[in-house]
Order: sequence, then structure tokens, then C-alpha cells
Amino acid sequence: MGFLADALARVQPSATIAVTNKARELKAAGRDVIGLGAGEPDFDTPDNIKAAAIKAINDGKTKYTAVDGIPELKAAIVEKFKRENGLTYETNQITVGTGGKQVLYNALVATLNPGDEVLIPTPYWVSYPDMVLLAGGEPVIVEADKSTFKITPEALDASITSRTKWLIFNSPSNPSGAAYTKAELKALTDVLKKHPQVWIMTDDMYEHLVYDDFEFTTPAQVEPALHDRTLTVNGVSKAYAMTGWRIGYAGGPVELIKAMAKVQSQSTSNPSSIAQWAAVEALSGTQDFIPKNNEVFKGRRDLVVSMLNQSNGISCPVPEGAFYVFPSCAGTIGKTAPSGKVIENDADFVTELLETEGVAVVPGSAFGLGPNFRISYATATEALEEACTRIQRFCGNLK
Ligand SMILES: *Cc1c(COP(=O)(O)O)cnc(C)c1O
Repeated sequence: MGFLADALARVQPSATIAVTNKARELKAAGRDVIGLGAGEPDFDTPDNIKAAAIKAINDGKTKYTAVDGIPELKAAIVEKFKRENGLTYETNQITVGTGGKQVLYNALVATLNPGDEVLIPTPYWVSYPDMVLLAGGEPVIVEADKSTFKITPEALDASITSRTKWLIFNSPSNPSGAAYTKAELKALTDVLKKHPQVWIMTDDMYEHLVYDDFEFTTPAQVEPALHDRTLTVNGVSKAYAMTGWRIGYAGGPVELIKAMAKVQSQSTSNPSSIAQWAAVEALSGTQDFIPKNNEVFKGRRDLVVSMLNQSNGISCPVPEGAFYVFPSCAGTIGKTAPSGKVIENDADFVTELLETEGVAVVPGSAFGLGPNFRISYATATEALEEACTRIQRFCGNLK
């Protein structure tokens, strides 16, 4: 339709939402469907955080706030970066937005000119390439190793040009769950040190969701020389089970933070005042439930990995973090499903699995890497066990 912006034609609707919708349709039609598509914790928001929001309402904290966050939340974020990441920011280097998603988008809109390149390692969070396109830039995909889901320093170096403006970095990763060790990250920051035109946008959304004593690190912490060209993005959605509250934040150079506030001031203005007060409590109050939730997540991860690896044609590495696994279905390619359809790629695998067994997962090609699929294990353990049993049966019935 000629009325719509050209930029929109370059953008895909979210594949994760598409799968969720398809599963919902089948459910509405009476089918027994287990949805493993959604990327959000199934836990409830902790009570102390809810209480802080209710108090904010009762105290009349219900008006417009400063565009990019109340001072109390910025102070809590400064404290958080110091305490957990060893990063020093002043309050004027902090921005708060309506979810990490808006913060990432603001940064791209505030910096990209036509032709500017943004490096995005595979497998990537579905929104990165489309956000870059909407902001007028060019996504440049950097291919990861297919078994570790990590990029090498050589691949990074080879992708950098004079037009490269950003590397978007995400560890632990959505969709693979892979997280870079300090040494692996240092090897990448060593490359970036040689290219002063490249800034780092690090999406640390899954910082707290790591298992087996994995030690989380972030680029500006590993390489302080990059501090002045790093935007460290984080949020409360995943670690605090607060996806609906919509609070994300970032620390970065003053000039960039100011530019991002300018974008936000002419679009959404401040994030919800009530949610901001809840986020103060999330960051400053007790953190006790994080290890408790992680224990549950780790148990589910181990269950899912083990059951998938006992499925014909599936191979699933053990991810370090997040709440996703990203198994390969390469061993099923060329086989025939009960419907008579020959499985040619991960999209076919996912469609046949949904139609035959009622298990909804997301095809890896949506994240730029296949033949794989993503399972979110942020779902009740019994449902996961049943879903994996069905996957085993589905794979066992392929001819
Ligand atoms: C969930 C998610 C986000 C965005 O979270 P918000 O709810 O917008 O704060 C950002 N990056 C990744 C990789 C995510 O999975």
C-alpha cells in the first residue's frame, strides 16, 4: 500500500509472536497445545516489588516524571552498576525507558544515518535487525560457530568496515542461552579496541540468569578502555519477572544519553511512574528470589537438554544462561513426517511438530541460524516434560 512508509516494507513482524498466535489459534480450535514460544518468566513478580508499586499509587506518584527517569531510580541504577558490574556511571549517564526494547531503539534512532552498519551476531534476538532497519541503518550479520553459538574474534574483525557504527552484543543470548566467558569476551574487546569508530551496545538482559557458577561479565567491565563507547543496556523484565511493567535502562556516555532522552521526549516521554518506583525496589530491595528462581530454571534446563538429546536427529548443547535452549534438528532434515511432508528445514520441522504433536517452538531461521529451533523453558516443569516426550515421539516417528 503506497501510503505506508518504505522503511516498513523492510521489516518483519516478530516470529516469536507469530508462533504464539498460531498456537493460540489451534488451542481455540480445541487442540491440546503446549506453547514453548514465549520468552518470559512464568514466575509472578515478587511481593516486595508489587507493594512498592501500590505504595507509589497511594502516595500519589502518578504524574509525569522526568523524561528519562526519576532521580531515585537513576540513583538505584548507578548503585546497581557499581555493585554488580564494577562500572562507574554518574546519574547523568543513566537513561530509563519503557522496557529495554525502547532503550535499544532510542539508541539506534539517536545515532544511525543512512548507510551506517550495525554488526549483529547470529543467532540474534529477532528485534535487532528490524530495529536497525527502522532506524535507517544496515544490519550486518556476523555468523557464529554453529555448535557454540559464539562469534570468533576473526569473524568480528572481518566484518568491521569504516561504516560500522555499532556491535550489538547479547550474552547470555536470546535465543541460544550461550554466554561468553571473560576470556572469550576479552578476545572480542581486543578487536574492538583497534577500531575506534565502532561502539558497543551490550544487551545484558539475562545477566542474572546464569547457571553452574558461570560468571557474568559485560564489555565495559572486561575492557575499561571501551567504557566511553559502550552503552550498557539492562532491565527488570527477565530477572525480576516484570515483563509487563516495562522498565529498561542503560548507562553510557553523557552525549549519547542526552540524545536518547531527546528521542524519547518526542515519542513516549517518561515510562510509567508507578513502574519506575517498583523498579527502585527491584534493584535496591532483597535479591533473594533470584537464586531460588535460578535453581528452578537450571533444573528445567537440565531436563530439557537431556530429553532432547535422547530424541532421534536432535542435538542440544548445554547453554550457560537465559531460559532458552537452541537445539539443532539437522538430523531430521530429509526425513518424512507422518503427514507425508518431507522436512527440508527448521521451519518445516517446527510446523510439522506443531501440527502432529501440538508443541509450539520457534524456528531458528527467525534468529538467523538454522536448522535449529528455540525452546523457552520458562514454563511449568510438567508441561516441559510432556512437550519433550512428544518431541521424542515425533522424531521417533519420522521415516
Ligand atoms: C526480553 C528481551 C529484551 C527486552 O526486554 P524489555 O521487556 O523490553 O525490557 C531485550 N533483549 C533481549 C535479548 C530480550 O530477550
